[in-house]
Amino acid sequence: MLILQDITLTLPARKPASIMEPAGIRVRFAPSPTGPLHLGGVRTALYNYLFARKHNGAFILRIEDTDQNRFVPGAEDYIIKSLKWCGLEFDEDIIKGGPHAPYRQSERSSIYREYVQVLLEKGHAYKAFDTAAELEDARNRLSRGHEQFQYGVKTRLQMKNSLSLSADEVSTRTERGDRYVIRILIPENQTVIFHDLIRGEVKVHTDTLDDKVLFKSDGLPTYHLANVIDDYLMKISHVIRGEEWLPSAPMHLLLYRFFGWESSMPQFAHLPLILKPDGNGKLSKRDGDRLGFPVFPLEWKDPDSDDIFHGYKEDGYLPEAFINMLALLGWNPGTEQEIFSMNELVSAFSLDRINKSGAKFDPPKARWFNHKYIQQKPDAELYNYLQPALAANGINADPEYVIRVIALIRERVELLPDLLKNSLLFFRAPETYDQQVKQKIWQEGTALYVEEFATMVSRLEPFDKESLHRLVEEFTGSRKIKTGQLMNPLRLLVVGSNQGPGMMDIAVMLGKEEFLRRLYLGIKKI
Ligand code: GLU
Repeated sequence: MLILQDITLTLPARKPASIMEPAGIRVRFAPSPTGPLHLGGVRTALYNYLFARKHNGAFILRIEDTDQNRFVPGAEDYIIKSLKWCGLEFDEDIIKGGPHAPYRQSERSSIYREYVQVLLEKGHAYKAFDTAAELEDARNRLSRGHEQFQYGVKTRLQMKNSLSLSADEVSTRTERGDRYVIRILIPENQTVIFHDLIRGEVKVHTDTLDDKVLFKSDGLPTYHLANVIDDYLMKISHVIRGEEWLPSAPMHLLLYRFFGWESSMPQFAHLPLILKPDGNGKLSKRDGDRLGFPVFPLEWKDPDSDDIFHGYKEDGYLPEAFINMLALLGWNPGTEQEIFSMNELVSAFSLDRINKSGAKFDPPKARWFNHKYIQQKPDAELYNYLQPALAANGINADPEYVIRVIALIRERVELLPDLLKNSLLFFRAPETYDQQVKQKIWQEGTALYVEEFATMVSRLEPFDKESLHRLVEEFTGSRKIKTGQLMNPLRLLVVGSNQGPGMMDIAVMLGKEEFLRRLYLGIKKI
């Protein structure tokens, strides 16, 4: 059994109790700016946010940027903009600051340096001088069959470190400036047990853990060290994060123990993965392109390849719909309710209703949510989306007319760009006519009777749906043709295809003059 000493006094002091915030729920979202935020990351942020709001706690953003090799320009900004679009507001972050600023780890390196020193002094960590070539060599020499080389209990004494080298050699190497990293000394033959709020009891034997690097030769900590120190200093009460971090949790727990912080250790909740739509493996950033749906909240242009990845925002999803969809991807309210406002999510949310198994991503369901949310918006609000799109297409229409068009087409709008797609026909006569449709519906005498019908329409008063209906009935009855034989050609002439809302609705919306103009123009062009 490892004997732990109380080392808290030797550590940089925490704030005295009197100026500490009241103890309570404090959660953090801690992304690394190594690329755009995947929807799984947004879901992690969302669950943290809901948990914080539900318990009147604090929601903190911490940027974990200590891995300089994986730094991607623009990623931090992207993460912040994405969460803002989603409506997830932080109480403490790199812009607002807060009682534990700075919130960007690269600005906290002196803190980590002090703490890693404590681990060295207490013998819970050691210096390792192995070069990349030596590590590679050890990997080749010491891997056995399926058993990969692990820098740890079985191998550490065969490597070049302050455990295997003499004290003199270690000081010589340190003094002459040899590069070294600091590794955690995983204790032998112990069992680490902790309770995960989602997975229940997690039990790991320390001999399966490796002596992970805590501090790199570039003077910056690794994720593990910085993450634990900051969670402690920032008084994080619950660590809610992706399942991919579950294997690291036992090592984090050991760090809390080594520092003497076990009694104020946060509780852990590791979230299930988001899976590909077919359930076969983790949803990856390439799946979106392959299967035709966005994986990122906002569009992302990869700075290396210039590849553009779709974003929910640009593809025309409403942030409320995106959030609602994500909330139910791995959490269930225990009722049939599917549509939740953010406030409703806050009051319904609880960690114990998070599923243990992975959640299959369902693209049609994402569109379904968006459709539902669009249907809840008043016409005037949809106008604010449509108007700029019309203007960008050189269309400057009377707002009242635009709103009437919206009322007619809105039911079929799933994504915001459908507003423009479905309404263009009300602002512009077709320039082309679908040839396949034409082949199917256009016959010898069609032009003739359509012209006759147009002549009758020109005399029709009033020009409304009812009288149009009556006219169509009389006309098709007397000519002994089916309704479709008239309506389909009318639609082709007026719309250019077989798409769109009811033909009478279109005719009335366009007005008699425009309707007739399109019929004559179409007959000529066709
Ligand atoms: N920086 C880690 C990440 O990018 C955070 C993991 C954690 O929340 O502990 O996912």
